[in-house]
Amino acid sequence: MNRLLNGISASATVSFNNLAKKLKEEGKDIVSLAGGDPDFETPERIRDALASAVEAGHTHYCDSRGIVPLRERIVRKLKEENGISCAPENILVTPGAKYAVFLAIMSICSSGDEVLIPQPSWVSYETMTRLAGAVPVGLRLSMEDNYLITEEKLESHISPRTKLLIINSPNNPTGRVMTAEEWKAVRNVVKKHDLYLISDEVYEKIIFDGRKNISPAAFEDIRQKTITINSFSKSYAMTGWRIGYMCAPRVVTEPCYLQLTHEISCVNEFVQYAALEAFNCEKESLEMRREYEWRRDYLLKELSSLNGFTVMKPEGAFYLWVRIERENMNSQALAMWLLEKAGVVTVPGEAFGKGSKNCVRFCFACSRSDLEEAVRSIKECI
Ligand code: GLU
Repeated sequence: MNRLLNGISASATVSFNNLAKKLKEEGKDIVSLAGGDPDFETPERIRDALASAVEAGHTHYCDSRGIVPLRERIVRKLKEENGISCAPENILVTPGAKYAVFLAIMSICSSGDEVLIPQPSWVSYETMTRLAGAVPVGLRLSMEDNYLITEEKLESHISPRTKLLIINSPNNPTGRVMTAEEWKAVRNVVKKHDLYLISDEVYEKIIFDGRKNISPAAFEDIRQKTITINSFSKSYAMTGWRIGYMCAPRVVTEPCYLQLTHEISCVNEFVQYAALEAFNCEKESLEMRREYEWRRDYLLKELSSLNGFTVMKPEGAFYLWVRIERENMNSQALAMWLLEKAGVVTVPGEAFGKGSKNCVRFCFACSRSDLEEAVRSIKECI
């Protein structure tokens, strides 16, 4: 086996999602608050656009960078919504944001380069870094100060080999949204050490209490070092369609493009035409956001009232990050306890790296009745 695969385990978010599906198929009475997969239907006009694209014969290989009308539309979106100036050459359409993150890490890092990852962080950044032959360096943030990122904290983990910094805001799993002050710290460090920055913004439209997403590529001084990652999955309930993109300087998109041509040739053409229609679904996306906000408030109120539960108030994304104090139980044991005693599938915190001790992630991208059922069972088992 390739030595880069040594010690690699399957993605915990994906595994627990699969586990929940399997248990349901077996007829087990469980509620899944595991994988971040919206319970909403993909908006009808996107589904119709897919059918029309197939009918129109868009069923062949296509431009490996992404079809031109989609890349042009993404350029417009990034300008209007995110303040990012770019051209279609800066866009690469990928099967999901996940593959875009991996391509970016692969193209930027050589063997032994270090990738700085503030943690808790999404489960795949570390593994993707290892698969690229690079070294993940987790920076432990802490719940006590709301997982705040400062220049001093970042500086303390920089070495001469640091090549790349990965920031995910709104954050999976903590729900934190980066403030202007935190972005300033990131910008200073990126400039001082000439780093690349991956800004994973897949939850940009799921943001609460009037907060606004800040895209670092909008800042002229770090635009040439920033890779913006986005996707249609969370904003338009399109997880299964597998479509996302990166926006980056050509020194990054070109090697990513070369690699993509060898690995997958291109993204399904008809899915790209359907994704074009997503830009006309802002109303639907906003309705989903409003519903997520209701669910956040509900779950936050219910779980905060439980003895031993310390709950982060999510500012964005659709996860509730909870520290649970129960004697002799680490995060894995806590997740198993919730599954076995309450029939609720979650994801154990330790999968999200440092700063996750005794934590569990609850996803609230599921129906109100599922949430109510989960709360009832957890209360009963406590
Ligand atoms: N990103 C989602 C999650 O964290 C989906 C699964 C995955 O790709 O990690 O649950």
